[in-house]
Parts: sequence; C-alpha cells; structure tokens
Amino acid sequence: MNLILLGPPGAGKGTQAKRLEDRYGIAQISTGDMLRAEVKSGSDIGREAKAIMESGGLVPDAIITAMLAMRVTKPDCAKGFILDGFPRTVPQAEALDVMLRERGLRLDHVIELKVDDAALVERIAGRFTCAKCGTGYHDRFKPTSQAGTCDVCGSTEFIRRADDKAETVSARLDAYNRQTAPLLPYYAGQGKLQQVDGMADMDAVSAALQRILAGADSRVDATVPDR
Ligand code: ADP
Ligand code: ADP
Ligand code: ZN
Repeated sequence: MNLILLGPPGAGKGTQAKRLEDRYGIAQISTGDMLRAEVKSGSDIGREAKAIMESGGLVPDAIITAMLAMRVTKPDCAKGFILDGFPRTVPQAEALDVMLRERGLRLDHVIELKVDDAALVERIAGRFTCAKCGTGYHDRFKPTSQAGTCDVCGSTEFIRRADDKAETVSARLDAYNRQTAPLLPYYAGQGKLQQVDGMADMDAVSAALQRILAGADSRVDATVPDR
C-alpha cells in the first residue's frame, strides 16, 4: 500500500504517518526528516538545503526527487510507503508518477489533512521532539507525562526546529498555498484525493485514516471544495 499524506505544515502528517507505519508496517518517508539529517551531517545536499529551509522556502525539485528515488528502493519500503511532505510541487508529483510507473507501483490513496491556518500556527509553535528517540510532542496537545522527560526513552533533551519560529511559519504557509495546494486538483483529477478533518483530535484523525485505508470512504471528484 502506497499513500501520500498532504497538508500544510503542522497539519499532523508526521504524527499520523508514524502511527500508520506502526500499524501497517509500511515505511514513513519524510523528506523534511531526510533533509534535516543531511543538514546535520553537513553533506553537499545539506549545505544547499540549510538556508532554504531556514527561510521557509522549498528545496529544488531535482534534489528532492533524486533523494526520494533512492529512498523508495530501500528494503523497508517492500510493503509500501507513506509519503509525508512529498510531493510538494506539481513537478515533484509528475516525477513521482513516472517513478511509480517505472517500478510497476501505484498510489492507493492521497489524503489531505484539512486544518485551519490559526490552528496550524499554534500547532507549530508548540511542537517539539525528543532529541534521542525522535518522538514528537506538543506543549498543549501532547505534553510528556512527566515534565521534561521523554515518555518513550526517558531522555531529558528535546529539540525545537529552527524553522518553527513565528517569522518562518508564514513563509512556509505561503509556500504551501502557492506551490503545494495545486496538488489538490492534480490528484482530484486522477480520482485519488480523499479528505480528512485534521482539526479533530489525534485519535479521531487516526480513526478516519483507518476507515479510508479499509476502503470505506468515497473519493473526492475532480473539483475540490473551497478550503
Ligand atoms: P506536520 O508533520 O504535518 O508538520 P506534526 O505531525 O508534526 O505536523 O504536528 C504538528 C504539531 O501538532 C505536533 O506538535 C503534534 O504533536 C501536534 N498535533 C498533531 N496532530 C494533532 C491534532 N490532531 N490535534 C492537536 N495537535 C496535533
Ligand atoms: P512541515 O511538514 O512542518 O512543513 P517538513 O519537515 O516536511 O515540514 O519540511 C521542512 C522543510 O524542508 C520545508 O519547509 C522545505 O524547506 C523542506 N522540504 C521538505 N520536503 C520538501 C519537498 N518535498 N520539496 C521541497 N522542500 C522540502
Ligand atoms: Zn525519547
């Protein structure tokens, strides 16, 4: 099973992709996480991507599609994958279509998580992750059970992303609206787009995704309702 989670920064793609990975044994592919690893390692890609990411813009399509083409050949993708943060432009979506066709694969679902802008700002502002195991948290919506200690690994070190600061968030939302939102009609035109209310709590969103993966919900037709 191969799927795409679409939605603006902070919509809950990473949170839900992790849960789907655990439940269905398919790989989460987060191009954002991959790029952050490149930045951290100081690779050529990382050096090129760093400033772009900090400004809230998008890394060039050629870099991203080359990175993704390598990633989907890894053994953990054998049962399928959840694309989280890719594609983000129409050229990336077109490259993905070619890549899948060449490998004899298909997209089973493209799911949009719909969340209001005001909620996104709050979600991004409160987001943090464990520095050791990467578990995601939120100051208000998913705090650690014991203040300052990771529930999963007990670490006391946490990271907040440099691009999650207020100044950068509006640039990222802008990039989403201008460059990524055109993917909604792109996939609706292929008869693949489905929508989930991302304003609901995390468990309700997971339940809605599971219904879709079970084939219970119908597709959105060529036109997308206003958002
Ligand atoms: P994305 O990957 O789409 O950028 P994340 O999954 O990182 O989004 O979620 C952004 C922040 O919002 C995280 O801190 C996460 O814990 C929190 N969050 C995710 N889903 C929900 C939800 N349904 N309700 C409230 N907060 C959420
Ligand atoms: P979020 O889901 O919170 O927007 P991501 O972790 O997906 O954040 O992405 C962080 C940053 O990495 C983006 O703002 C962008 O600069 C870069 N990036 C990630 N994925 C892509 C992509 N598919 N194309 C171009 N840039 C990307
Ligand atoms: Zn941890």
